[in-house]
Amino acid sequence: MHWKGDINLSLDCFICRRTGRTTRLTHGAEHGTCSGDSRTGQHPAAARISAFDHTSERERTILRTIVDYWWAPFHDADRNQPSVTLTRTPWVQLHLGYLCPEPVRSGTFSTQTNPRHPQTDTCEHCAAPIVHSHYAPRIQLQT
Ligand SMILES: [Zn+2]
Ligand SMILES: [Zn+2]
Repeated sequence: MHWKGDINLSLDCFICRRTGRTTRLTHGAEHGTCSGDSRTGQHPAAARISAFDHTSERERTILRTIVDYWWAPFHDADRNQPSVTLTRTPWVQLHLGYLCPEPVRSGTFSTQTNPRHPQTDTCEHCAAPIVHSHYAPRIQLQT
């Protein structure tokens, strides 16, 4: 099992001036991609993954990642609300890859902020339980 270097994170985006945009980040990429809205479409975002450290101990794995992003205040005209440094509905989705032994095939699953934990995920090929998530990912703002 391994952490995949792609993260989805909700951010308030000063470029398209919309709050709570899903922003796609890839470890090693120079910038992220904001989902924008129907008017702008997706566009490059001033955000990137600056640290991606995972520790594994016996059958447990923990990921700590740091995302740097540029934020400037603006007003979301569609929702009529001001932007905030951390969105009102902070949300992150992390992805993991694994190998199913029979037959050997790779699969992925994700863990995210909202759904209840603990949570058990099953293999997409053979339906065997493959992972038990104890905690939902947490987001911390550092300024
Ligand atoms: Zn945007
Ligand atoms: Zn399987």
